[in-house]
Amino acid sequence: MKRCLVVLLMLATQVAAQSPYGAKPVITYRNQPLEAVAVNVVSNALVGSIGSLLHKPKGMSAGRALLRGAARGAAGGAMIYLGKALSSQIYHERNIWYGWGSRAVVSLGASMVENTILHKPLLGRYGIDVGPMFVTIERGHVRLQVMPLAAAFTVSELLARKSINWEASGQLGTLIFNSGSLPYEGLYNKGSFTVSPGYQVCSQAWHGSVAHEHLHALQFRESLVINQWARVQPKGFWRVFKVDFTPFDLLYPLLGDGIQQSTNWYEREAQLFSTGMNNPTRLLNTRVP
Ligand SMILES: [Zn+2]
Repeated sequence: MKRCLVVLLMLATQVAAQSPYGAKPVITYRNQPLEAVAVNVVSNALVGSIGSLLHKPKGMSAGRALLRGAARGAAGGAMIYLGKALSSQIYHERNIWYGWGSRAVVSLGASMVENTILHKPLLGRYGIDVGPMFVTIERGHVRLQVMPLAAAFTVSELLARKSINWEASGQLGTLIFNSGSLPYEGLYNKGSFTVSPGYQVCSQAWHGSVAHEHLHALQFRESLVINQWARVQPKGFWRVFKVDFTPFDLLYPLLGDGIQQSTNWYEREAQLFSTGMNNPTRLLNTRVP
């Protein structure tokens, strides 16, 4: 398992290293990649340290639990940043195969933060979402669970849209529905998203929309980490379900409507890692136009 993750990481960095500069960004400031790194590293260090303190084993001091949680959480956050940066290549290279790779890397980072909270070995358990399913790999065992909210959203979108873009869904690892009736470019719900097919006429706009909505899918995986604070784990028969409601679901309506990238980090980040940042995989090389 560990070796498998190392190979995956090597592949991820290789892909990142080979990426050429992409299309012109819509908005670019010098500090944006640093801002995105800081938010991902600091927020996960915080989540890791608080969780580590909450589940501190007997005999470990509170200070040690906090420091250990912060360091490991920060490492997980850096991995999550790397995965999101890979996802931006969907737009920069007009290639949605980056969906699978970025999802695998973000899931690795999120799993690292979860393992930090639970005081497991950093790479002890790996959890990845695939559509409405959640796959957990631990000590050679694979467990499949259904995420109820994601399943409900997926079924309701299926009934409303009827048209799945199978090719793109297979390349991305997330179900994409087509819709001609959305008043906006795309719509993300847990487990799947919908993009206006009209945008397929223009590759730049379509890949931009897919990259943006896919980043929300990565944020969803990241958001599940917080549930480990309360160790939300169904028992008995209910273990076929993975709880996919998070406290962030309550926060989102408070953030205001639509894409207000300047005030709403959730949307701002989706925009930064799609069309908004000039290739974040080249953090040290950022050009300012
Ligand atoms: Zn959005």
